[in-house]
Amino acid sequence: MSQTKYIFVTGGVSSSLGKGIIAASLAKLLQVRGHRVTIQKLDPYINVDPGTLNPYEHGECYVTDDGAETDLDLGHYERFLNVPTSQANNVTTGRIYQSVIEKERRGEFLGKTVQVVPHITNEIKERIQILGKSGDFDIVITEIGGTVGDIESLPYIEAVRQLKWELGDENSMVIHLTLIPYLSAAGELKTKPTQHSVKTLMESGIKADVLVCRTEHKLNDDLRRKLALFCNVKEDAVIESIDADTIYDVPNLMLEEELDKVVLKTFKLPIADKVNLSAWNNFVQRHKNPKNQVTIGLIGKYVELQDSYKSILESFIHAGAANEVKVKVESIHSEHLPQQEVAQKLGHLDAILVAPGFGERGIQGKIEAVRYARENKIPFLGICLGMQMAVIEYSRNVLDIKEAISLEQDPEAKSPVINLMEEQKNVTDKGGTMRLGAWACKLEKNSHVFKAYGSEIISERHRHRYEYNNQYKTQLEEAGLLTTGTNPDTGLVEIVEVKDHPWFVGVQYHPEYKSTVLEPHPLFVAFVKAALDNSKK
Ligand code: GLN
Repeated sequence: MSQTKYIFVTGGVSSSLGKGIIAASLAKLLQVRGHRVTIQKLDPYINVDPGTLNPYEHGECYVTDDGAETDLDLGHYERFLNVPTSQANNVTTGRIYQSVIEKERRGEFLGKTVQVVPHITNEIKERIQILGKSGDFDIVITEIGGTVGDIESLPYIEAVRQLKWELGDENSMVIHLTLIPYLSAAGELKTKPTQHSVKTLMESGIKADVLVCRTEHKLNDDLRRKLALFCNVKEDAVIESIDADTIYDVPNLMLEEELDKVVLKTFKLPIADKVNLSAWNNFVQRHKNPKNQVTIGLIGKYVELQDSYKSILESFIHAGAANEVKVKVESIHSEHLPQQEVAQKLGHLDAILVAPGFGERGIQGKIEAVRYARENKIPFLGICLGMQMAVIEYSRNVLDIKEAISLEQDPEAKSPVINLMEEQKNVTDKGGTMRLGAWACKLEKNSHVFKAYGSEIISERHRHRYEYNNQYKTQLEEAGLLTTGTNPDTGLVEIVEVKDHPWFVGVQYHPEYKSTVLEPHPLFVAFVKAALDNSKK
């Protein structure tokens, strides 16, 4: 078996430069050149995973097939590469320490003093190499979260230094993503912050092999030469990353800058002339040249922060391109949606999506939005909590069970149409204990979902503690809330649809986690199509 190559991506000067997008774009180029690539994210915070983080803190929590609650960058990796990620693709400082401390408790360190170096750094090195050693990948890209110089990232940087030494220059390299700020008063791009961040990296014993420079303006040759000279990299290893209209332009921009070639040259791997990005470019073309536009309301309680619903927004981009439609997503705060204002706030929408979520805040607004969509025959998609709200709304307003609610919002509820799952009843820890990851679901043939998926058995990812209460199933079905998807093993209701409605679907799972550029999610494609049909009425 050939040696796996490792690429480490560090960040300098500022956070939010888009390391994840650069890593994903490079991976895409290497993938279309025939290499098997995966991307890993190392997060320097103490939470064991982001599952316990409020979306305001860190954006959406992404979920993999194997049930890992992960950083949202893994969503970008999957959307770009169309290859599933797993628990091994996201590691946090919390997880590293947890594992080292558990080993210490088991006596595995044989009486030694347990220290950051070597025990924590060894654990990091092991976690980095798990993906490489699986034999599934030729190239592993590891993105180090945070900014070089942060106290938290030091053990990661040291682990990278050691691995580079062990693996050698032909098998490992460091790409440093940095910012070249533009001072408008001086009319100049400035290289000094980059010089300093490269120097900081150097103080930890790491020489950057490639600089990827985020910039608002083009870098001229003089500036490229200056950056190369003072940052100690080859001239062709200074890569411009200019602000793009969409993240989906970045692979092409990196191709023009030949980032992939610099990497392959470093690894002494063959470089074919042709790169086939046609499927990707076909998507970009459709995305950029829509024939129609629809406006879809996203009803949620974290709408102030775009990253909270990242995968949903990206799924709309994929599904929009598939339909040659621009999907304008209008975020509407569910806390500010009183009954008397619903028609005014939602009346102009072509379709309504009620978002996933937790807790009590903003619930009433979500129920009102469901009601409006149902009564006015507006295409509706409810995801997870959104589906649960659809069941509650139907129970209250059609079945006339006025106090229908979920046990999540009222643990003493008399009519819990949404129940706590049996296996959740004795769970006390919050982290990693929900019903997580991929589960099978069997679809009813005569349904919108079957029409969308075109197959009877599907697999979708979950993240919830509460479930449809089967005690109300007969009543709800007879009243017109159909069960069109169930877990084949447990009978758990996964999908509901309103009878005699143009398109009203609630799903207990999260379709947004599985939508990719090359495989837009069928449910989002069908939902956007329903919005388009509605807009033409
Ligand atoms: N809070 C609900 C539950 O735990 C829904 C979760 C979600 O929307 N992801 O069941």
